[in-house]
Amino acid sequence: MEIARRTLERWLGGSGVTSAQADRTRVFRAGGRGRFGRLRGGLARADRHGKVLLVSLDSGQGFLSHLGMTGKWVRRAAGEAVPYSRARLQLADGSVVHYRDPRLFGRIEPHPAEALATLPAVRALGPDPLLTPLSGRQLQDALGATRAPIKVALMDQRRLAGLGNIHAAEALWRARIHPGRPARTLEPAEWNRLATAIRRGLAFALAAEDGEEIAYVEEPGTENPFRVYARAGEPCPRCGTPITLLRQAGRRTDLCHRCQPARRRAR
Ligand SMILES: [Zn+2]
Repeated sequence: MEIARRTLERWLGGSGVTSAQADRTRVFRAGGRGRFGRLRGGLARADRHGKVLLVSLDSGQGFLSHLGMTGKWVRRAAGEAVPYSRARLQLADGSVVHYRDPRLFGRIEPHPAEALATLPAVRALGPDPLLTPLSGRQLQDALGATRAPIKVALMDQRRLAGLGNIHAAEALWRARIHPGRPARTLEPAEWNRLATAIRRGLAFALAAEDGEEIAYVEEPGTENPFRVYARAGEPCPRCGTPITLLRQAGRRTDLCHRCQPARRRAR
């Protein structure tokens, strides 16, 4: 998501929006399509909180973008066909920024720029570890009261904003914590390891993905930059034990049973 924010900032910052179009899809709700079509102007700022992008134009207009699971913003030359393009921003330099989303899980909501930061969808979000690095103690404050599995708690955007399935799985592997452990059973040392793991994982992902566009690991031809995610059957990078696959709340978690034991080790 941070990659998406940076690229949008670069593209729209370099050249203002001269016209916009939105197709009739569920990406837009209640009047959003018409308001998107009236967007004009240069970039005032591009912010991100968790998985939500907030784009403000100097015309006072703005929009919220949530990529869902398969959405992305791409820039193409004018006239170039873009499969699954759902909305377009024509830029003054002649290029076109498309929102493409094959499965339509994402959403775009135009709002006045000044209203973006206080939208209920934004205020409901927990702290974003990329905007404010969290200590183990702060992480425990955010997640430590629930008996939900730690993996599920990490992905609950109301508790902590910005960690998706992949980064939660990666962080738990780095911190050597089993994804099924009830969050409230974690000990201070484990919260500290998890906080460090989240910081390192996000930094690693930003470095690895620093291209023009975000790529989803599931897309054909995309290299997998992650340590355990989607690597079931391959040796654990730390201990060599084959990575195994766990399903939790319908999502995959790849883990090492040796590094991430289901029970706390006796001390
Ligand atoms: Zn291992």
